Amino acid sequence: MTKGRVIKNYNGYYYVDVGRENLVECRRRGKLLKAKILVGDELEITELGQDKGVIEALLPRRNQIRRPAVANIDQLLVIMAAQSPDPNRFLVDKMLMTCEYGGIHPTLCFNKCDLDRDTAEAYKAFYERCGYDVYLVSAKTGEGLDTLRALLPHRMTAFAGPSGVGKSSLLSQLLGRKDLSVGAVSEKIKRGRHTTRHSEIMRLDSDTYVVDTPGFSALDFEHLDPREVLRLFPDMLPYSGGCKFSSCLHLSEPECTVKQAVADGHIQAERYDTYCKILTSIAERKR
Ligand code: GDP
Ligand code: ZN
Repeated sequence: MTKGRVIKNYNGYYYVDVGRENLVECRRRGKLLKAKILVGDELEITELGQDKGVIEALLPRRNQIRRPAVANIDQLLVIMAAQSPDPNRFLVDKMLMTCEYGGIHPTLCFNKCDLDRDTAEAYKAFYERCGYDVYLVSAKTGEGLDTLRALLPHRMTAFAGPSGVGKSSLLSQLLGRKDLSVGAVSEKIKRGRHTTRHSEIMRLDSDTYVVDTPGFSALDFEHLDPREVLRLFPDMLPYSGGCKFSSCLHLSEPECTVKQAVADGHIQAERYDTYCKILTSIAERKR
């Protein structure tokens, strides 16, 4: 039995990285026909020779995102631009919350720093106070790219962010032409009628992967239990222990230590505003 990771799913075949240059083209056993196997999933396969194999088992998943469906992400880079498009704090917060909810480590990256350094620095200071790592880069000038590249080895990194922020530019700068998996499966793809861009993992090394997530969207928070929301804010959660009511939602209840922490400046008001907006949207949905 060989262990491997699904790099691509195409026409009923799964292309599995087993640590060699060539991917193994696998079918699934009948007993696995109902299992949902995602790009990023870890598997056990039996090799049949000539880079072909059969999937025997799907190993437990550490996490997954739904759109696009990718499993076992080690870190998600939330990419925003310092300008054009202008960054949006509510959107950044929602993407961070989506990561917190899914158990995925988020890192923030502001691209296009060449266009507006002051805005980028202000966002960096703000989100570092929340406890997140923030990188300022420019795909155009090359600033910060070495630091960003150093985050990649030995893990699977997803790139997410609104269109136009420079994800493709950053990826091509970071990856150069070292992309092995695309070459390895391109023969197969040519026979198909159309190439789909989504959910393709790029392999830089046997244990270094990058995945572009063009359709990544924030979770639909309206479906959450309001009591679950605060734990998606690691900067606010530590202040919730002393509230008078154990059921405190930190909105209009008296003697709330979260609201006190906002008043004292320990919690940044903009983050608390996001929290309130999310709770309001949940309440509106229930009505
Ligand atoms: P994507 O939609 O996130 O993949 O964004 P693209 O990589 O297609 O970039 C969108 C536009 O922003 C293109 O016109 C790029 O040339 C430009 N762009 C990307 N990175 C930078 C940067 O660091 N600085 C500046 N000034 N422009 C950039
Ligand atoms: Zn409270």
